[in-house]
Amino acid sequence: MADAKTLDDLFLDTLKDIYFAEKQIVKALPKMAKAATSSELKAGFEKHLQETQGHVDRLEQVFDLIGAPARGKTCEAILGIIEEAKEIMDEFKDSPALDAGLVSSAQAVEHYEIARYGTLKAWANQLGRSNVVKLLEATEQEEIATDKKLTQLGVGQVNRRAAA
Ligand code: FE
Ligand code: FE
Repeated sequence: MADAKTLDDLFLDTLKDIYFAEKQIVKALPKMAKAATSSELKAGFEKHLQETQGHVDRLEQVFDLIGAPARGKTCEAILGIIEEAKEIMDEFKDSPALDAGLVSSAQAVEHYEIARYGTLKAWANQLGRSNVVKLLEATEQEEIATDKKLTQLGVGQVNRRAAA
């Protein structure tokens, strides 16, 4: 019988999932920035692209700390969320509702990340890896701040413009 898998295995699998996801997000954000019509939304996507590159770096530090090679594992969830973002960019290309759609796609991405980082943080805590917790926490805070900014942009201007 195969050895029973442990919380360490679950942690590593999920780390690979979010590593794959972050790299997909690095590829998707420039397209979303290019598509956005609001200059603030465009600037927000560009800023978060920089941060996301930092998230990839932090994950590589986590792999290093746990002594595992930095390797991604296909994350169907992020592929689906990004695919839906592409649909919106396509189908709402010349619509005043395009930016509202982009905000909704970006928030789906951030919520996925927040869920993953929250879980990984709890498991790292359980496994007694406080240095890993700190790295995950730093990224989680940037995802939460980004989600809040997207809400402000949506409610503050983008949604109103979409309804005009
Ligand atoms: Fe991220
Ligand atoms: Fe993010």
